[in-house]
Amino acid sequence: PRLYPETNIMIYTPALPEIEIPVVDIPTLIFNSEHYQKVLSQPLMTDTLGEYLTFEDLIQDSGSLAGGVRKTLGLKKWDVVGVYALNNIDFPYVVYGLLRAGCTISPINAAYTHEEVAFQLKDSGAIALIVDPLLVPRAKVAAQLAGIPASHVFVMGDAEVDGVQPLSGLMDEPMDPVEFTQEELKTKPAYLTYSSGTTGRSKGVVTSHYNVVSNVLQMYQTMKLATGPGESCTGALPFTHMYGLVAMLHTAPYMGVHVITIPKFDFATMLKVISKVKPTTLYLVPPIMIGLAKHPAVAMADLSSVKYIISGAAPLSAELSQALTQRLPHIKVMQGYGLTETSPVAALSMPETAVHGSAGMLVPNSEARLVDPETGLDVPKGERGELWLRGPHIMLRYLNLPETTAEALTADGYFRTGDIATIDEHGNIFIVDRLKELVKYAGLQVPPAELEAKLLTHSKIADAAVIGIPDDISGELPLAYVVLQPGAEITEKEIQDYIAERVADHKQLRGGVIFTDAVPKAPSGKILRRVLREKDAARRAAL
Ligand code: AMP
Repeated sequence: PRLYPETNIMIYTPALPEIEIPVVDIPTLIFNSEHYQKVLSQPLMTDTLGEYLTFEDLIQDSGSLAGGVRKTLGLKKWDVVGVYALNNIDFPYVVYGLLRAGCTISPINAAYTHEEVAFQLKDSGAIALIVDPLLVPRAKVAAQLAGIPASHVFVMGDAEVDGVQPLSGLMDEPMDPVEFTQEELKTKPAYLTYSSGTTGRSKGVVTSHYNVVSNVLQMYQTMKLATGPGESCTGALPFTHMYGLVAMLHTAPYMGVHVITIPKFDFATMLKVISKVKPTTLYLVPPIMIGLAKHPAVAMADLSSVKYIISGAAPLSAELSQALTQRLPHIKVMQGYGLTETSPVAALSMPETAVHGSAGMLVPNSEARLVDPETGLDVPKGERGELWLRGPHIMLRYLNLPETTAEALTADGYFRTGDIATIDEHGNIFIVDRLKELVKYAGLQVPPAELEAKLLTHSKIADAAVIGIPDDISGELPLAYVVLQPGAEITEKEIQDYIAERVADHKQLRGGVIFTDAVPKAPSGKILRRVLREKDAARRAAL
């Protein structure tokens, strides 16, 4: 790191040299990549049934969709469209079509309930919705709640589903590409993906074309020796999460790499796909790494094609990384670290130098600081501090939330991640704790504030606080501390069921419910989560 003695600021820089980042829109970067151009007639994405879309199809189909979106539907530049879908082979042309039409995309988690979908549609200002055939019933209710007319709701594919018109009807003659100014590419949203950040409810993360273009090139620069055109990859990442979206729909096509998509992920299907399609790279999350390290079925599968596994979205321990390397010594285990707000990859291990337990090294063109959250001062070399990041991949802002944005981004452009890290003398980053209130179940976000608000809607509950407790498989499980109304009686199971009916599967109270007399709070009313976490650790230790 470089120390600036006059301010005592210590800046960490990447090991890789700076790269040039063009100010172009996402489709222009990807379609003009020399790797993409090499494999035009080959499949870009194949699903588990063997249906596929070629690199050439993506250019054609997205052009037709862009034409229809502009001419027939009459959408304009920066109109927001929700995309609510599982991973499928229509996803890429929907995304590229909308981007080429100049629209902003808000990707919506397929596990969301109609209320959660409606919230995101309203909050993002979406005026149209494209939905997976399997999610039509919930999408219809959500669109109605959000005031999106039936004329603006389309189902992927060429068949009407439950009264919702097919997207094929919107395909038109490709039109002249929408022009973007350099300023628009740097200041307008290509994506509004949702994240709770350090505190509170889910917020729209405003991500520009330039943010994504930067991150594709930052990832490519780190991985280019590992993989290239004609190779395949697969993974367990939803395309509606920034990690799946950018890695699978942008970086892989940029590198000319074929993506095998598993719409409804399960471990056995993944093993079958790997044995059959012979991918070189797997993009996974830690719970699946545990399966690979321990599951007996792995011994029967043919994993000989796999050269690299990249784990991200949650911590991967050195022990697990080592166990996997021992079981599958021909595979290099790498780790990526990032956030929705960093578009997403902020750190990635390099194939040659990956260290077990490290979240990787800074991607090119970025800078980091480690700051003591109490004093606001940079910590001495080797010590832990909150990781602050700066670079072209950092989001523009949180949508319509200037104050929250000002808390997250410093005046000179550093983003406060809410993660506690150390950085060793080689530049390896280790994420050691989380300062923010976010809970992650299997790599997916569980914002405690959302569950607390839902708990408080129950007439028998007077107060509530949600924290994450450690879990060997899923990383963390959401657990609620609940204060009942005087004289009220209710069981743990009844509360868990009440929540289960109202939130996506990954947000369920799998950690349980503990009844308590009071939630520890600061005089300002803020829940003292650290106190609660410590209290709960003591409770679990005594069990
Ligand atoms: P999301 O915006 O859903 O991608 O969540 C970002 C958060 O996930 C980060 O702030 C971290 O707390 C956590 N995270 C992501 N990748 C890693 C990693 N490799 N190691 C530890 N935590 C991670």
